[in-house]
Amino acid sequence: MGGAKHADAGLARFLPATVTAVVGFALGLVVAWGVGQGGTEQAPSVASGGASTSPEVPAAPSESAIPRVSASASGTAEPIVAPSTVFDMDKYSIDEADSPWVVVNKLRPLDPKTYVPDDLGAVNGVSFTDGGSIRAEAGDALAQMHEDAQAEGLNFRVSNAYRSYARQNDLYSVYVNRSGTAKADTFSARPGYSEHQTGWSADLYDSDACRLLACFGDTEVGRFIADHGAEYGFIVRYPEGDQDITGYIYEPWHVRYVGVDLAMEMRDRGVATLEEFFGLPDAPSYAS
Ligand SMILES: [Zn+2]
Repeated sequence: MGGAKHADAGLARFLPATVTAVVGFALGLVVAWGVGQGGTEQAPSVASGGASTSPEVPAAPSESAIPRVSASASGTAEPIVAPSTVFDMDKYSIDEADSPWVVVNKLRPLDPKTYVPDDLGAVNGVSFTDGGSIRAEAGDALAQMHEDAQAEGLNFRVSNAYRSYARQNDLYSVYVNRSGTAKADTFSARPGYSEHQTGWSADLYDSDACRLLACFGDTEVGRFIADHGAEYGFIVRYPEGDQDITGYIYEPWHVRYVGVDLAMEMRDRGVATLEEFFGLPDAPSYAS
């Protein structure tokens, strides 16, 4: 998609000025007609398609010509934004525990802290080593990602996905006893603050050698997930170098389902964390 846009822009750059002017004039007529037909909601920058009613059809004009033509046709110079490119930041809640976009971190516990999803289940064809389950929509996406990974000769298992408040409480207690609170807080969430409790997250691995270790990110499966996870709606929730934002060390194995739209939008914009994407405060540590 980006390639096509650049190709169009490149073509336009090589058009002689006279041709551009003629095209611009023709476009002006069509746009003027479009305005008369109530067609200003159409986005002239979308050059593909081919429906004869679209004002963008006559040419692949240079992008600089579009605002000029539009201005002459409508008398205003409002920016033209293709509706399909506007990302709806409010499509889902980031606060409600049930939402696929819920943002849980050390400053944002689940509400209620004892939340339990109502559509947990196993995933066909994907083994859950430590038992557990995942929410249905995330499970479907995980199954598809697993199938496609297998088609490339890769395989992965789920170490753990959904964890209840009680289970998280047990785990966290073990880690605190073993490592102390400060250390435990860098890799294990307190009960009520774990993304695993949302039912949208899973820890993936392919071999015990790098299970729950940073080296997983350098395995073929780890790279597949980092590169292609977004196409299935998954993000690597705790990227390398973002501990000051997310509160957690690099966890290339921990994926979070947010849906394809958001995951792809984050990938396209180069935004790695949910905190940054939604303009939330950094959450390096608990408030108390
Ligand atoms: Zn995890």
